[in-house]
Amino acid sequence: MTKPVIFCDFDGTVTESDNIIRMMEEFAPQGWEDIKDQILTRQISINEGVGKLFSLLPSQLEEKLTAFAIEHAKIRPGFKEFVEFAHKEEIPLYIVSGGIDFFVYPVLEKFGPFEGIYCNESDFSGERIKILWPNECDSLCDNNCGCCKPSIIRKLTHENDKFKIVIGDSVTDLEAAKHADFVLARDLLQEKCEEWGINHRGFSTFFECIEEIKKRIEVGELKC
Ligand code: MG
Ligand code: ZN
Repeated sequence: MTKPVIFCDFDGTVTESDNIIRMMEEFAPQGWEDIKDQILTRQISINEGVGKLFSLLPSQLEEKLTAFAIEHAKIRPGFKEFVEFAHKEEIPLYIVSGGIDFFVYPVLEKFGPFEGIYCNESDFSGERIKILWPNECDSLCDNNCGCCKPSIIRKLTHENDKFKIVIGDSVTDLEAAKHADFVLARDLLQEKCEEWGINHRGFSTFFECIEEIKKRIEVGELKC
């Protein structure tokens, strides 16, 4: 189990803040925060909550929302270098995101290519925005994740025995972290890793992520 593979979250990890929250602050009517709180305290599933949040918004906001997301997505320092590092070391780097296609792809465009990008999809054809879930939970997960990170990890690693590195910050990463061999964590995810005794390290920039993985390659723990 020495060949690494990286599964990296998008919102609040690649970007410094959560794009969905930013968009809701700007465009959603009153009451959206209650839904957000229910998601964060795990009273409702991510799937249900994110669907509800976007159903608050009319589809005609599509262009405005997309432009807003691209304009406000602040990329965490070191991300560009991190992607280059993974390329150079030939470490597969997957983006697994509970975000939505209409902002995930445009923001990532200038950094790729990636081994793969997994996120939720959007339908602007109705009166209100509808979220589609092409990466739903497999039979081994009953969390209603929306974009089910553990299911994706299982699908991509079932035929090999790779060292799974999960990078993330929040509620959509909790289940993924339980499947990781090592977690680079921020915020809520970091707290939970501590609480649950998951092998992890906190980070604030992707330069630290590079250093951490480099160190493990140098001591022979990981082979690329
Ligand atoms: Mg996140
Ligand atoms: Zn799931």
